Amino acid sequence: MPILLVFALIAACLPIDWPEPPLDPARESAIALSGGAVALVLLIAFALRTWVVRTLRREPDRRVEVGRAYGKWRRVLFFLNIGTSAACVLGFGWGWFAQREFLVDWTGKVMPAPFAELAVPLPYFVILFSCWFIYYDAERALHRALWHDSRPFAPRAAYLLHNLRQFALMVMLPVMLIVTQQTLNRFLPETTRSDVYRLASLAVVPVLLLLMPLLMKPLLGLVSMPAGPVRDRLEVVAKRLNFRCTDFLLWPTHGAAVNALIAGLLPRVRYVVFTDRILEDLPPDELDAVFGHEVGHAKHGHIWLYAGFLTLSLSLLAAILIFLEQQLKAAHWTVPDAYKPYETWLLLVPVVMVASYLFVVFGALSRRCERQADVYGCRAVSCADPNCAGHDEATVYPPGGTCLCPSGIRTFVSALERVGDLNGVSMGRKERPTLGELVRGAWAWVRHWLHAPMPRRVAYLRSLIDRPALEPRFQRRLFAFKCLLMLALIAALVALGRHVGWNELYDAL
Ligand SMILES: [Zn+2]
Ligand SMILES: [Zn+2]
Repeated sequence: MPILLVFALIAACLPIDWPEPPLDPARESAIALSGGAVALVLLIAFALRTWVVRTLRREPDRRVEVGRAYGKWRRVLFFLNIGTSAACVLGFGWGWFAQREFLVDWTGKVMPAPFAELAVPLPYFVILFSCWFIYYDAERALHRALWHDSRPFAPRAAYLLHNLRQFALMVMLPVMLIVTQQTLNRFLPETTRSDVYRLASLAVVPVLLLLMPLLMKPLLGLVSMPAGPVRDRLEVVAKRLNFRCTDFLLWPTHGAAVNALIAGLLPRVRYVVFTDRILEDLPPDELDAVFGHEVGHAKHGHIWLYAGFLTLSLSLLAAILIFLEQQLKAAHWTVPDAYKPYETWLLLVPVVMVASYLFVVFGALSRRCERQADVYGCRAVSCADPNCAGHDEATVYPPGGTCLCPSGIRTFVSALERVGDLNGVSMGRKERPTLGELVRGAWAWVRHWLHAPMPRRVAYLRSLIDRPALEPRFQRRLFAFKCLLMLALIAALVALGRHVGWNELYDAL
C-alpha cells in the first residue's frame, strides 16, 4: 500500500498550480472547507473507535465479530482519508492556499520556503496522525478482549512511535528525497547544475539501497535478537543453508505485526528481521520455514535483481519522457489556450507513468520472486525423501536446501496460513462474492501487489505435493522471464538512449 501513498504525496508536493477555492473570500473558504472536511472524517473515525470500545466493554464475547467489522471499516476509511485529502487540495483550494502562504524572500525573489511543499498534503498528515491517536483505544480494547491481561498492550506513546517510524521509513523517505531536491533547485540553482551535485544525486538512490539495512535499525527501533533457543535454532538453519548475514534482528511491535523480512544487498550489511509476534506465535519448524523464505530471496539474488531492475527501468522511463518531449517540440506542439491554466499539471505525467509502471511490471516480477522464495522456504524444511510421511526429531535435513518433500511443503503452508490468520487475512472462499468482498478483494489486490493473495500461494505450493515436476518447470520459466525482462530493458534503453542522446539522458537524471 505505501507505494500508492508515496506517489500521491510526491504528486501533491510538485510545483503544480492547484485550483483556486470555489468560494469567496478565497483564503478563508480554503481553510474552512478543508478544515471542515478533515474534522468530518476524524469524527467518523472517532465514532468507529467509540463503537468498538463500548461494544467490547458491554459484550466482550463479540470480539471476533467486532474485530472483523473494525478491520473492514478501517479499510474503507483508508480510502476515505486519501479521498478527503485529495478533495481538499483539488476541490477546496487547500493546495492553492498552501502555495501562497509559506513564502520567503530570497535574493530579491519571493518563493516558497524550504520544504514548504509539504504543506500541500498537510490535510493528509493531520488525518493520519490524529487517526493513530484515535484508533489506539479501539486497538487496545480489541487486544484486551482477546488476551485479557496475559499480554499487555503497548502504551500510547510506544504505539504512536511504532506507526510514526514505519511511516517515516516507508513513505516519507522517498518523498523527502524529492522535496529536498526541489528545495535545493529553488535556493541553490547554480549548485544543482554542477556535475558534482548531479553525480551525487544519481548516487543517492543506490547508496541508500546499500545502507538501507543500517538505516532501518535506528528508524524502526530494531534490536539484535537476544541469545537463546530461538536464535540458536536460526543460526543452525542458516549454517545448513549456507546463508550469511550480519545479524538477526528483533522488531519490537508490541504484538502489532506478524512479519519477517530481509534487507541488504551484501552479506556484510544484511539483516533478517522478525517481529516479536512472529517469534512468539509460530512453532519452531514453521519459523524455520519463514526464515527459509527470507533466505530464498537472498539465495536467488532477488535483492540485486530488484536493484538492477529499478535502475534500468527508471533510466528507461526518463528516456521515454525525453523522447516524447523531443517529439512534441519537433511537431511545435503547445498547450492549447483553453488548457493553459493547467499547463503545470503536465508534471503529473511522469509520476503517474512511474507509479503505474512499477505497479504493473514490478508487481509481476515481485509476485514471481515471492513464489520462488516460497518454494525455497519449503525446501529449507524438507528432507531427502520425496515421499516422506512426516518429520520428527530424528529427521535429517540435507544441507543447502536442495530437496523438496511433502512434509516440508506442508510445514511451510501451515506457517503461511498461520501468519495469514494472525494478520487477519481470511482464507475461505465462497462461490459468489458480495459487494463487500469485492471491495475487500480489490483492496487485497492493491495491498498485495508485491505478493500474490494468500489462497493462491497456498494452492500452488499444495499442487507441488502431487505434481513435483511443476517445480523445475516453474524455475526454468522464471529464469527465462527474468532474463527476457532485463534484456528487453537494456535493449530498449540502448535504443532510446542513442535516439535521444546520452548527454540529454544524463542531464535529465
Ligand atoms: Zn518474501
Ligand atoms: Zn520430508
